[in-house]
Amino acid sequence: METLVVDHPLVAHKLTTLRDVRTDSPTFRRLADELVTLLAYEATRDVRVTDVTVETPLVTTHGVRLARPAPLVVPILRAGLGMLDGMTRILPTAEVGFLGMIRDESTLKAQTYATRLPEDLSGRQCYVLDPMLATGGTLAAAVRFLFDRGAQDVTAICLLAAPEGIAHMDDTFRGTGKPIRVVTAALDERLNEQGYIVPGLGDAGDRLYGVV
Ligand code: URA
Repeated sequence: METLVVDHPLVAHKLTTLRDVRTDSPTFRRLADELVTLLAYEATRDVRVTDVTVETPLVTTHGVRLARPAPLVVPILRAGLGMLDGMTRILPTAEVGFLGMIRDESTLKAQTYATRLPEDLSGRQCYVLDPMLATGGTLAAAVRFLFDRGAQDVTAICLLAAPEGIAHMDDTFRGTGKPIRVVTAALDERLNEQGYIVPGLGDAGDRLYGVV
């Protein structure tokens, strides 16, 4: 598995404000949206394209267009929804599927409670949106789900990642030969006893949408 920590002053600036406990939900949502667009730019570096010719006002020249089938963007409900607009802004022709996963807070294990995805993902490049790669249980389950349906490769975009989550993903998919990338704004220090990323930014879903 490949991990890319995007090293860019604008990414670091936006992430710092997201971390700040005083940042309110509307500002958090806007900054998360902007940050995802920056991460998506790096995450789509290997998106498949096909060669085409194009008529300019002057001549015929060569160019590329996004290949078919279209990439599939999969936000993990609920917090991943806060990343969807930022992603589709730079990939507007992508299709969007949904995966509802929740972490059991006592076992920290992921459970699927909703899916809306094509049955057959053969040849599809998939982009999973999950703000916090903490234990890695949810992301590993989501990625396995997509590969079980035939996905060609999976890139996860996470605002933050913990070393434990990266290690879990590495262990889970080592030797499978599956192409997986994690693109994140920062690799934080550790998880605490409650499974929160430290220093982190708290509960991403609550900060986006409030405590419900
Ligand atoms: N999920 C969150 O929202 N925050 C964390 O720190 C870990 C998991």
